[in-house]
Amino acid sequence: MLGERDWKELIDKMIKDKYNKITKIDDINIISVDECIRCLRRSYYDRKEPLPSRKEKMKRILDLRSEKKECEIDGIKLVGYAYAIMDGVLFDIIYVNDLPKEPFPEDILSLNANLFIFEVEYGIIIYVNREGDTIEFTLGRDKKVFNELIRRVKIFNTLLRDGKTPVIEPSSSCRECQYNIRCYIRKWEQDDSFIARLLGRKES
Ligand code: SF4
Repeated sequence: MLGERDWKELIDKMIKDKYNKITKIDDINIISVDECIRCLRRSYYDRKEPLPSRKEKMKRILDLRSEKKECEIDGIKLVGYAYAIMDGVLFDIIYVNDLPKEPFPEDILSLNANLFIFEVEYGIIIYVNREGDTIEFTLGRDKKVFNELIRRVKIFNTLLRDGKTPVIEPSSSCRECQYNIRCYIRKWEQDDSFIARLLGRKES
């Protein structure tokens, strides 16, 4: 019979395995949709010099997607995930604290890319809150939006290969990003004019 310590170790291992299964990609020619729908700099740091983020970890552990498929783009494997494909419709289920009125932009980008990777015309994003309430959004695929993602996949691949850190992509995500000290505080320390510009002061 398992003692309390064994249970804890078993649970820690399960969480670690689940987290690594979704996040761990070591090959620069294998890139996930998730890495390119968000700030490339953040995804780059996650691969090259990761810092722990409890919130990010929990988000990925609660990720319910189990279907995985790849497509090839100029020698790069782009990996997509889905919760399920039924009757030619792709389903994504996402846990949220509060049900949104509109789907989040990154979820639309992710669903759109997965529709192309899984070769499916329509998809449904289902948001679920803690109470078990849901809201659904149905979307069709958009080639232009997918082409933009492909452009970012290629840029990310090149930067990984050349060991060059992507530029800062300022957004509301920076507030909760575990790398914001690297992006902003370090920049402030190195460049006084950056602070002046940020504060709207004229440089002498
Ligand atoms: S702080 Fe902002 S710009 Fe920097 S890595 Fe995070 S999300 Fe990207």
